[in-house]
Amino acid sequence: TERTFSMIKPDATKRNLTGKINAKFEDAGLRIVAQKRLHLSKAQAGEFYKVHAERPFYDELCEFMASGPVVAQVLEGENAIAKNREVMGATNPADADEGTIRADFAESVGENSVHGSDAPETAKEEISFFFSGLEIV
Ligand code: ATP
Ligand code: MG
Repeated sequence: TERTFSMIKPDATKRNLTGKINAKFEDAGLRIVAQKRLHLSKAQAGEFYKVHAERPFYDELCEFMASGPVVAQVLEGENAIAKNREVMGATNPADADEGTIRADFAESVGENSVHGSDAPETAKEEISFFFSGLEIV
């Protein structure tokens, strides 16, 4: 069993979609073993997404991630990292498979409702950015 970091983005919390998104994780066999809602500052969003600092959309991404509350989560299950990315669907909702979170809920390539770690190392880093060991049960 594996853990991954997930974040429900401001476009989704704004539209009251937390429960519908969580149902998709649970239906896929992912267990929500930690969860908290918080409102990131632009600086905190910038720190979280610092790997994208050179990308042209970085500033827009940081603005967006600080534009409203997010829900930070740890998901656990067999192949949780790959499974979560499958449930999320492609970054651009126009390319996302039917039934995925992004196909059903995302508004655009930027405002795409969810984030999920892409590898074991980033999962570990991203989980510890938000949670202490005691908060994951
Ligand atoms: P995430 O890292 O959020 O799980 P991802 O791995 O599918 O998504 P990345 O390429 O890592 O996508 O980009 C990180 C995030 O940056 C995207 O989820 C999206 O919110 C934003 N983003 C990516 N491409 C663009 C773009 N062309 N214009 C605006 N925002 C973008
Ligand atoms: Mg990514």
